[in-house]
Amino acid sequence: MDKQAPIEFTQRLVRQQSFSGEEGPLTQIVVDEMEAIGFDKVWVDENGSAIGVIEGTKPGKTILFDAHTDTVGIAPGSVWTKDPFGGEIIDGYLYGRGSADMKGALAAMIHAAANVDKSEISGKVIVSASVLEEVYEGGALKTVMDAVNPDYVVIGESSNLNLVHGGRGRAEIQIETIGKPSHSSSPQQGVNAVHLMMKVIEAVENIELDEHPLLGPAIFALTDIISEPYPGYSVIPSRCKATYDRRLLPNETADDVLGAIQALPELQGIPFKAVISQGEHKSYTGTVLTCTKLFPAWKLETDHPFVQTALKGLRESGLNPQLTAYRFCTNAAYSVGTAEIPTIGFGPGVEADAHVVDERLSLDELEKVASGYRGIIRAVLGNNN
Ligand SMILES: [Zn+2]
Repeated sequence: MDKQAPIEFTQRLVRQQSFSGEEGPLTQIVVDEMEAIGFDKVWVDENGSAIGVIEGTKPGKTILFDAHTDTVGIAPGSVWTKDPFGGEIIDGYLYGRGSADMKGALAAMIHAAANVDKSEISGKVIVSASVLEEVYEGGALKTVMDAVNPDYVVIGESSNLNLVHGGRGRAEIQIETIGKPSHSSSPQQGVNAVHLMMKVIEAVENIELDEHPLLGPAIFALTDIISEPYPGYSVIPSRCKATYDRRLLPNETADDVLGAIQALPELQGIPFKAVISQGEHKSYTGTVLTCTKLFPAWKLETDHPFVQTALKGLRESGLNPQLTAYRFCTNAAYSVGTAEIPTIGFGPGVEADAHVVDERLSLDELEKVASGYRGIIRAVLGNNN
């Protein structure tokens, strides 16, 4: 495989800004590339995700490689020493927003799929360049999967060239305390919702959470709080809302997470509600994806046939991956956490490379990840297996 092609393509992808909801121009670059390098079928779905198909010469299973096209923004006040949209290469690293998360993986998937000898595979290789992952994990991937019905999914998020077979999920929880307004000159006539919330927070912080040997600890983190009315001029607040980020372990459901709060003995008699947040995200094509913000954790056993076959493919590509897990939430929350299609993760870089100032991607890893994807395709769809 031409080593230079995925590098140059990653540079072009990095040079096109693609914040969540603004992926249109980048998607066109992806479509043009897929068409230019020999994909059999390429289209853009209703949400604006690009999908390309490579057909083997014989029928067989379908493997879907997914990378998201959106990136997080550039935080105001953060000082980059490199142009975030320059795609500069310095000392073996390609710099720019999205280089590690995850335009490099996308370029590697597209070129790995196009380089497979079609006469050697049975089935289809599909690459999806999906939108809106940074704001809604799995939302756009669901539409892709409904259209292409994959048997296996590979998520290209950073895994440090290791094979990921599980990931923590997440839930966003809204807690609201309900007080009673009064003039702040006579607070005793009201019930201060902020005081109620302080009791709730104290109790929630003391909930004991499990730890998983592969995925790490479950987490409860307070991310925001606001009272109503805000600002409160001479009024005792009658409502207070707090948001929690709850990192999930396998088999934790909404009922488990909310039930643990509602059952706290310290909170009996305190008027409050706890719900999973709802979200709405508009794609650049104008579709609106609505979501309940609970993204399940997932895990395939190490002896799962897909894990073992992918491992063989990676080893045959000269790699030596460890079996590991994502601590962060990815599109796999949908593909395997919800849709239960066997899914693994494999990508360049480490989690800490994402969303940072001077984000960068190692060119050596980009090359290895491309040959790893090709190895996975051969191992899963190869005629000689
Ligand atoms: Zn990502």
